[in-house]
Amino acid sequence: GTGAAMTHYAWIGLGNMGGPMAANLVKAGHQVSGVDLNESACAVAKDAGVRIADSVADAVKDADAVFTMLPKGDHVRSVFDGPDGIWAHARQDALLCDSSTVDVETSRWCHEQSAVRGFVFADTPVSGGISGAAEATLCFMIGGEPSAVERASVLVEPMSGSVIAAGGPTSGIAAKICNNMMLFIHLMANAEGSQLAEQLGLDPQVFWEIVSVSSGRSWSQQTWYPVPDIIPTAAANQNFTATFSAELAVKDVGLALAAGEQTGVHLPAARMVFEQLQELMAQGLGDRDCSLVAKLATPDGQLRGFDPDAA
Ligand code: NAD
Repeated sequence: GTGAAMTHYAWIGLGNMGGPMAANLVKAGHQVSGVDLNESACAVAKDAGVRIADSVADAVKDADAVFTMLPKGDHVRSVFDGPDGIWAHARQDALLCDSSTVDVETSRWCHEQSAVRGFVFADTPVSGGISGAAEATLCFMIGGEPSAVERASVLVEPMSGSVIAAGGPTSGIAAKICNNMMLFIHLMANAEGSQLAEQLGLDPQVFWEIVSVSSGRSWSQQTWYPVPDIIPTAAANQNFTATFSAELAVKDVGLALAAGEQTGVHLPAARMVFEQLQELMAQGLGDRDCSLVAKLATPDGQLRGFDPDAA
């Protein structure tokens, strides 16, 4: 598609996902004013052509669209609200979008409180990981009033491989929470399958190729396989430095468990993944990649590709 004409985006949160997403907007010829608390994240974004703003207020004041890409619901609430926040400083006609993975309640609060203040908000969460962010192939699932969904769809085009209108307000984030619960159940399948294959003496590359054309195939297996020298961009080749941290994965599965409790849906597999990820956090490894759960499957708790003493 052609996307929007030159647009001024404000981008709050230039981390693993937000950094490359903002960079792709710059590449597509748009102006981006970004802000992050982390100096090195700002430095990387600046090199990619993002104008680094002094504050949220400075980032949003002239923007046509404001995006947040922050860790959790609390961060999103704090950036929207208050005298230094988005609502206090954004242009009234700017479309406000949150692409973070948050709880449904936070997303509903963003919709409702934006409307109270005369703003239009869309929930615009994404799937595709940091590789999808870098390659501009993310799937955006968009929730909101029809006209907001239409505007958001144009705005996200330069970062996306697919854009799907999920339905009314919070339907994007609801879809995202369900999707990620499925992803992390698949993550456990790969943790256990890869280590069982290893202990049964299978050649890892050959086994991976078999699964790739068999019924065990999944996005997690294609992208995050927890064995070194199979997928170049997988965390297994970078000592399990986070592409998606265990801590964020626990958050996502926790969002699904909370939604299950609210709706009466039984989620035993999700509960098991939650406990495994918590065990990884208890070992002090919450900032490592979630695919490191594979170490909990091995007979000795060691994992090929992981050296706890290296950076
Ligand atoms: P991240 O931790 O790498 O980035 C978040 C950034 O927000 C950090 O750089 C942090 O400094 C910044 N930040 C926090 N509070 C701030 C504030 N008040 N003002 C400005 N900046 C602030 O996380 P990420 O991997 O980029 O993920 C962001 C969101 O996207 C999360 O909700 C995550 O669940 C979701 N997500 C992540 C992936 C993935 O593969 N990493 C994929 C899809 C969705």
